[in-house]
Amino acid sequence: MQFASTRGKAPEVGFSAALAQGLAPDGGLYVPQQWPAVALASLPDASDLAGIAAPFIGGFAAGDPLESEVDAIVHEAFNFPAPLLPLDADGRLAVLELFHGPTAAFKDFGARFLAACLTRIRRGHSRPLRILVATSGDTGGAVAAAFHRQPGIEVVVLFPKGLVSPTQQQQLTCWGDNISSLAVQGTFDDCQRLVKEAFLDPQMRAEAELSSANSINLGRLLPQAMYYAATSLDIWRRYGEKASFIIPSGNLGNSVACLWAQRMGLPIGEIVLAHNANRTVVDYLQTGELRPRPSVATLASAMDVGSPSNLERMTALYPDARQLGTALSAVSISDAQISARITHDYSARGQVWCPHTATAAEAYEQLSAERRASGRWVLVATAHPAKFREIVEPLIGQPVAVPENLQRLFELPSQFTEIPATLAALRSAMQQG
Ligand SMILES: *Cc1c(COP(=O)(O)O)cnc(C)c1O
Repeated sequence: MQFASTRGKAPEVGFSAALAQGLAPDGGLYVPQQWPAVALASLPDASDLAGIAAPFIGGFAAGDPLESEVDAIVHEAFNFPAPLLPLDADGRLAVLELFHGPTAAFKDFGARFLAACLTRIRRGHSRPLRILVATSGDTGGAVAAAFHRQPGIEVVVLFPKGLVSPTQQQQLTCWGDNISSLAVQGTFDDCQRLVKEAFLDPQMRAEAELSSANSINLGRLLPQAMYYAATSLDIWRRYGEKASFIIPSGNLGNSVACLWAQRMGLPIGEIVLAHNANRTVVDYLQTGELRPRPSVATLASAMDVGSPSNLERMTALYPDARQLGTALSAVSISDAQISARITHDYSARGQVWCPHTATAAEAYEQLSAERRASGRWVLVATAHPAKFREIVEPLIGQPVAVPENLQRLFELPSQFTEIPATLAALRSAMQQG
């Protein structure tokens, strides 16, 4: 299958090329040109995520050098569950827990899939592939975990010194081996600028092939469509009704994946995006005018995005706000509402949300009674609350139990190099590393 750039000024490419390039040469994002036709009745039980994914990913990779390896790739990537747990007696409300991977956030799905593909694409190349990741918290940890000890690939994680939480910093700096962690004396924007400068620097490009692993990469989105496939199929088989999803959203990678699953014929009803105080998408749907703006800091920091990159993938399917509004809706949830929802749902149901997932729980409460009663609603839980224990624990007045995979990471020694926010400093850190 072929993938086209959202900007339409780059040649179409196959599966491997789209993943290896990340960004299309015209600055656009790769999107599927066709959708795999999979007979839903032939799919296995929802708990077999790899089995569900194989025919869809196989369709996308048809005719590509990786086609014959799809089975191995999906088994490597989907080696942890995405359980759907009921929140009420009749199953009208449920939570999809996407945080059972190595770094306890849904980004593990995309990062592990991309790693399984890129290590195969790079086989037989003598030059190492160096993946540069600027991170404000969650992405860097998932990418580091996924690529740790993968042959032929190095990862350089750049994070703003002092601006990530202690729990996040530990996940960015506990790896060693082929992962280097750099604490940059600056902001997240400085980290992003350094990555862009590195891509343009002849000396750094001579040393290694450079790549990126953020959610502009198609290889992060296709695997995310698979948990929407499995969940909607599960609900369809159980109740004969479509599943409606409420998705905590920032850069819109997770929600594009849900739209794509719907395009592939899966029984998905409504899609509601829960944003934090960064209201760019909410305002776009309301006014029809797109006004990107600087991000504001919120409790749900992994969603602090003022100019969501993946909106371009949505407008490739729905060219204006009115049309996009027929496919999904969006709400903005304030920090005060996030805090109150975490406190309330802990005391009322004993349910502990991370600040991101709390936006989805609050968005559900804001639906009209009719909408709630007519749907089969799924709250998408994007991270484990223990990742944000500094925020959650004071709100619930209790320590948050730490899952085993996170606990193991918390116990590893932390190692990182501090650098000034200059390209010269990044270059010399690379030569020592
Ligand atoms: C990245 C992230 C989000 C936002 O996902 P997008 O794909 O950027 O919309 C939400 N919650 C958590 C925990 C995240 O790490």
